[in-house]
Amino acid sequence: MSNRAYNFNAGPAALPLEVLQQAQEQFVEFNGAGMSIMEMSHRSAAYEQVHNEAQSLLRELFGIPDNYHVLFLQGGASMQFAMLPMNLLAPSRAAAYAISGNWANKAVKEARLIGETIVAASSEGDGYRRTPAITDIVIPDDAAYVHVTSNETIEGTQYQAFPDTGNVPLAADMSSDILSRPVDVSKFGVIYAGAQKNLGPSGVTLVVIRNDLAAASPKSLPSMLRYETHVKNNSLYNTPPSFAIYMVNLMLKWIRSNGGVGELAKVNQAKTALIYDTIDNSGGFYTGFALPESRSRMNVTFRIRNEELEKLFIKESEQQGFIGLKGHRDVGGLRASVYNAVPMASCQALAQFMIDFQRRNG
Ligand code: PMP
Repeated sequence: MSNRAYNFNAGPAALPLEVLQQAQEQFVEFNGAGMSIMEMSHRSAAYEQVHNEAQSLLRELFGIPDNYHVLFLQGGASMQFAMLPMNLLAPSRAAAYAISGNWANKAVKEARLIGETIVAASSEGDGYRRTPAITDIVIPDDAAYVHVTSNETIEGTQYQAFPDTGNVPLAADMSSDILSRPVDVSKFGVIYAGAQKNLGPSGVTLVVIRNDLAAASPKSLPSMLRYETHVKNNSLYNTPPSFAIYMVNLMLKWIRSNGGVGELAKVNQAKTALIYDTIDNSGGFYTGFALPESRSRMNVTFRIRNEELEKLFIKESEQQGFIGLKGHRDVGGLRASVYNAVPMASCQALAQFMIDFQRRNG
């Protein structure tokens, strides 16, 4: 397969070729069942095996303790922006949000529709070029929860450590860095992530929630919006996105066969170092958007000194097989999203392209 693009899309994003090929092999007929997994009942033993195995792989790879549920929901991380406060934000309480950029702002905007919120910390004053310092995050004793966005996909910033929130549950949107590095799940009350960056295709959203928090879902909520409904039904209350969950299952096996999350973290560090080093060694031709201490190991954001050159960079990179390098319109410039499945070879090719481009235009 020599015609695979150098895929730096922000999401949906690159999947491992091996995973795609395995899905291709099983596409028409799944394990001798006489049908595709897409044609199967979600109540069949064959589908349930895939579903339950994906959950247990997540427990194993992400180190999810027994007192947490693993849910597969729909509606994307955007639905979780609303579901989280609907379930956890009691009328007499406030939810505290650390505002680190575009996605944290979207999360708090939804929570404000549901109940009282407070800004626990914000890096707006620094143009969201860094995450808030964890020591600046104010944790009111009676807060319903504290919410962080572990990796800001658009600005390219990432928390290097998480606050200790004591008895107040810590909730995290990990959409753009889930399973990219080891995390102590026991420090969190809720973790959620859309699958379409690090876990598989779009269409399924992972929610990891501590048992006692799920049990507290208000009974007044519509069934589909209560965490407890999905807990009680093992995420099979209604028809799940079975094909997407099957793909997540394959992706998790790929992660395991590549040494697990600890190994991927090292590779992700090395992959992004190639690009950050190219930026830092360019004598100012390229500049990183994120401040060095907050640099993301998933989304590398950078600029070139004038916008004409940025346009030329995108045009020429596309001609050479690089996809998805245009920055998000809110930040501008360039962005390389380097999720788990993006191979080292793509990053080497990008670093080389950047050096060549500078040589021609610097
Ligand atoms: N949070 C983050 C950090 C994201 O990157 C995204 C998607 N880019 C979302 C939330 C929204 O996810 P979805 O499209 O699955 O609703």
